[in-house]
Formats: sequence, C-alpha cells, structure tokens
Amino acid sequence: MDDYDIVDIFSSIIYSWYLENGRKLNWRETDNPYFILMAEMMLTRTRAEHVNRVYKKFITTYSNIKLLSKANIKELEEILRPLGLKSRCKMLIKAANFIIDKYNGVIPQDKDELLSIPGVGNYVAGMVMNCAFHKREYVVDTNIIRIFNRLLNLNINTDNIKDKEIIKYSSVYFDTENSREYAYAILDFGSAICKSIKPLCNICIVNRYRLCEFSIRDNKE
Ligand code: SF4
Repeated sequence: MDDYDIVDIFSSIIYSWYLENGRKLNWRETDNPYFILMAEMMLTRTRAEHVNRVYKKFITTYSNIKLLSKANIKELEEILRPLGLKSRCKMLIKAANFIIDKYNGVIPQDKDELLSIPGVGNYVAGMVMNCAFHKREYVVDTNIIRIFNRLLNLNINTDNIKDKEIIKYSSVYFDTENSREYAYAILDFGSAICKSIKPLCNICIVNRYRLCEFSIRDNKE
C-alpha cells in the first residue's frame, strides 16, 4: 500500500467519523457563497467556536454584500469585537466593495478570481471552492499538514502551506464529489482528535486500522 492509498482509506474513515461527530456550525447550514466566504474570512486565525458566536448577528445585519459594502465600521467592529483583530472589519468591507466593483456583486467560482479578492488567500479560496461551489479543490493549513505528517511520517514544516508534497496529498484527499463534507471532516478531526498537542490516539478511529505511522511508532517506543 503506498502513501496515496493510505490517504484514500484515511479519507473514508475520517468521513464516517465526521458523520457521527462533526461540529454543528452555523455557516455549514447554508449554500450561500457570500455567507460562506464571510465565515471563512472570519475564521482566519480564529477558533470556529468564537466565529459561531458572532456569525448569526453578522449575517442578519449584513444579509447581502451590498449592505456589507456600506457598513458602518463602528457597528461592524462592535459585532465582531469578540473575535479581536479590528483590521479584519476594514478588510471585509474592502472585499465586499471589490466584489461589487469587479464581479458585479457575485462571488466568483474560479479560484484565481477568488484569490484576487482582498483578504482571500489560498486556504479561504480553497474552502469556498469546496463548500460554496462543491468543486474539488485542495486545501492546506497547519492542521492539515500536522495530520498528514503524523499519518504518513512526513516532516513538512507546518507553516509551509505551499509545499508540493502536501499539496499532492491534500489533492488526493479532496478528490471527491463530497469535498465540502470532507473539508469539514478533516478540520473537525484535527480539532477534536488529532490535536496539535496530545493527540487522542487511544480513541482515534484511524488507529483501529493500524494506518497511522505516528501511532505505530509511538507504540513501539
Ligand atoms: S492515531 Fe493519533 S496521530 Fe494518528 S491520526 Fe489518530 S490521533 Fe492523529
């Protein structure tokens, strides 16, 4: 079995784990690309649980991109205050205005066009492709690198989101018609089980299949 086969099996295991254990987060209940883009931009360097607390207020106040483009900055800052990072408020307004000017107010379905939006990087663009448009697109962040490092005994720097090897593995993982759910699955798995500190290998479903190099190595030592 090569590493790509392992990623393939891992993805099915994680998906079934997610169906029972996935987090219920507000932006996961919509197909609206604007709402999903905003959620992903808010999630940058912020825990999902914190975004979940302000998200409903945000989307009811700015229920469409035009309203956000004309937002009163103080009012927006007040809504997003629990998230910190004041600069994010200006960025959201800037992004809304950019989308209105350049894309007629419609969130583009092309990754390069998404990347042209202020404040949108590879991770956010990839998540929007999968979660709003159901298009298969690899996603890499520090959590995903950590999980694959452990699973396959790699040594990729967790900040190196452009590493070619991790992009290849992530592309295999996300190569599914259900890539939206798979995206949520690996994020939840990294948050609940394969945590950065003290992963819960003893209760990890991947461990039952003797699939994870990290755990196999650990048990030998
Ligand atoms: S066995 Fe441990 S290191 Fe491997 S995927 Fe599960 S939690 Fe992560």
